[in-house]
Amino acid sequence: SEEKSLNFIEELIENDLSSGKTKTLVTRFPPEPNGYLHIGHAKAICLNFGLTQKYGGYTNLRFDDTNPVTEKTEYVNSQQEDIHWLGFEWKNELYASDYFDQLHAFAVTLIEKGLAYVDHSTAEEIAEQKGTPTEPGKPSVYRARTITENLTLFASMKAGELPDGACTLRAKIDLASPNMLMRDPIIYRIKHAHHHRTGDAWCIYPMYDFAHGQSDSIENITHSICTLEYVSHRELYDWFIEQLGIFPSKQYEFARLNLTYTVMSKRKLLQLVNEGLVSGWDDPRMPTISGLRRRGYTPESIKEFCERIGIAKRENLIELSLLEFCIREDLNKRATRVMAVLDPIKLVITNYPGGQAETLIGENNPEAEDKGGTREIPFSRELWIEREDFMEEPAKKWFRLAPGATVRLKHAYIVQCHDFKKGPDGEVTEVHCTYIPESKSGEDTSGINVKGTIHWVSAAHAKTAEVRLYDRLFSVESPDSEEGDFKEYLNPLSIQTISNAYIEPYLATLAEHQPYQFIRKGYFCVDKDSSPDKLIFNRTVGLKEAWKP
Ligand code: ATP
Ligand code: MG
Ligand code: MG
Repeated sequence: SEEKSLNFIEELIENDLSSGKTKTLVTRFPPEPNGYLHIGHAKAICLNFGLTQKYGGYTNLRFDDTNPVTEKTEYVNSQQEDIHWLGFEWKNELYASDYFDQLHAFAVTLIEKGLAYVDHSTAEEIAEQKGTPTEPGKPSVYRARTITENLTLFASMKAGELPDGACTLRAKIDLASPNMLMRDPIIYRIKHAHHHRTGDAWCIYPMYDFAHGQSDSIENITHSICTLEYVSHRELYDWFIEQLGIFPSKQYEFARLNLTYTVMSKRKLLQLVNEGLVSGWDDPRMPTISGLRRRGYTPESIKEFCERIGIAKRENLIELSLLEFCIREDLNKRATRVMAVLDPIKLVITNYPGGQAETLIGENNPEAEDKGGTREIPFSRELWIEREDFMEEPAKKWFRLAPGATVRLKHAYIVQCHDFKKGPDGEVTEVHCTYIPESKSGEDTSGINVKGTIHWVSAAHAKTAEVRLYDRLFSVESPDSEEGDFKEYLNPLSIQTISNAYIEPYLATLAEHQPYQFIRKGYFCVDKDSSPDKLIFNRTVGLKEAWKP
């Protein structure tokens, strides 16, 4: 078996475990419940849960819910569902909001140690006081407040005696620090807002930097893994833990996942949902886990993708085609091969008796170990075939149907075209063939060799279905780095709906659906809006490989 080299986080953990610095590995996945999880989160999930699967210990799910205005229980539920669907189990389900009392006590401790003060400066004044990276900041006039004064004012902030924005609690650190985040950051603000879990119990809320590290510490998280934007926050993370003398969690950063032809921030995805530019968070074009699931992606394919892209220390942009490669490989193993005609024209077999039918047998999946079993396929005089499989004046090397040409009908017979009909607008409406009775698949004694095989569905037996073909959501590689609003770069052709496709009757009889390969057309799954009366299929991905490993 292939020996995989360790990524830098695994290396670090192996060192910490072997030196005894870490006894039990504890990681967490800390989503903010302000939207649905996306493929970038999947990477962080695979990393955090994957590490404790590999090295023992456990992973907590902690909702980072310190921002009451944007957070909702709907998001908490969808995030849990998505992590479970990926196949991971958390040890504890926790909420940063459960620590509000403790975090408040930490703030009081800092005030008592002379390390925090209540500041009545406005946001503009605070920004002004911070200075610039090359010049030190200036102290606020409120920086010299006494401990007693600060305790009283912080209590009145908490008691709801002051309106939003009246003042903030700031850490007293270093106004000359080259790290701007260390120049007396705000740690608490007044916000009279209803919180999805704590209701109206609080009107002051901790800032991210004051909540995150201390929450990690409360949970004895040993390795707090986050994305590169937080590198500059690490100094502050360590400072709070040190001043409070609490469990020393450590923060490590890796490069976030960026994918071509999409955007990946919950805030932007929310705009697409709210403005009706997609049908919802689970629109199959969305990079959300729920969208990918509805599109027909499997957990295995997403995990394989996360494995292949690896853990980097530098920002990069990953090709969407790599994700498509992963699902194609996975579905190739598990998808049932069936026939569906998406753009039908009639094929009439003039030497096959009308009113007669026979039942052919099709292998469900030659790629599967057990071949996926077989199914029955009705065959009769009139079939549906793809319009693109017939050419009135064939191009060179055309191995499909044309006047005089011979092809095999998959799982059935060899047919030869001798005529065709056109409608009033010049469009071909019917192709006429004769079939060769001795050429039946599996028992062919005709001795005829044909180069092309096409798919078909018996017209008298076919069921209709709606088929949705998807393309990339944006028409540019990196919508985030284009000028103007990212929504200007949406791909207008990202969905094409075919309302009258013909499918094998077999599909309509199934109570439970699996992934399918529509032969020659791609991989498909049944959409959640599908019903037995109206089957709806989503194309997960086409058959062709645009990307090779
Ligand atoms: P977004 O705005 O895209 O939702 P976020 O970082 O604000 O990103 P959180 O809910 O706070 O979203 O993220 C939870 C965890 O997932 C964090 O540890 C974060 O670093 C990680 N994460 C978010 N986006 C990505 C990404 N694109 N690649 C890797 N990890 C990510
Ligand atoms: Mg965040
Ligand atoms: Mg965000």
